Amino acid sequence: MPPTTGNIGGARYPPDVLSQIKGLSRHFTEETLRAYLLDRSARVEDGCLVVRGYGSQRGEYQKLAGRAWAHIAAYVVFVGDYDPELEVDHLCGVPDCIEPTHLRQVSHAENCRRRKQQPRCRNGHDREIDIHTGRYRKVCRRCNGDAQKRWRERQARQVAEGRASYGRATD
Ligand SMILES: [Zn+2]
Ligand SMILES: [Zn+2]
Repeated sequence: MPPTTGNIGGARYPPDVLSQIKGLSRHFTEETLRAYLLDRSARVEDGCLVVRGYGSQRGEYQKLAGRAWAHIAAYVVFVGDYDPELEVDHLCGVPDCIEPTHLRQVSHAENCRRRKQQPRCRNGHDREIDIHTGRYRKVCRRCNGDAQKRWRERQARQVAEGRASYGRATD
């Protein structure tokens, strides 16, 4: 049996992918880690796969399977091609989500750039993350909805005033 790791005749075999996950218990295989993560997570309404780590805090990065970050472990075993030089970022903005399609790798600089965006619109609403770019949407959906509502109300008022003056004119 040829060894699967190490240096043979100068050719470098790929390192064990699980060894790239800091703090992971050694007894896991890729297969058991996948099962473990799925076992501890639940699908929520907006498509996120929210994992329960050791802590009680929801909506924060979760640790499990030793002292490993759940989203990094999920990236390694569900997405693959993990680059330890890069950070694992959430397109959905939900830190305890491990849904593979919500995870992507970005440079530290890119991650910081995104964090510098204002998380609220000028009217104080939480801004939404655009799932395609991982950045906050330019247009606030609530402000936009409010503006449309005001426009419809103004239209309705003008129509009502128009009817009222028409009614008087024909008296
Ligand atoms: Zn998510
Ligand atoms: Zn707003």
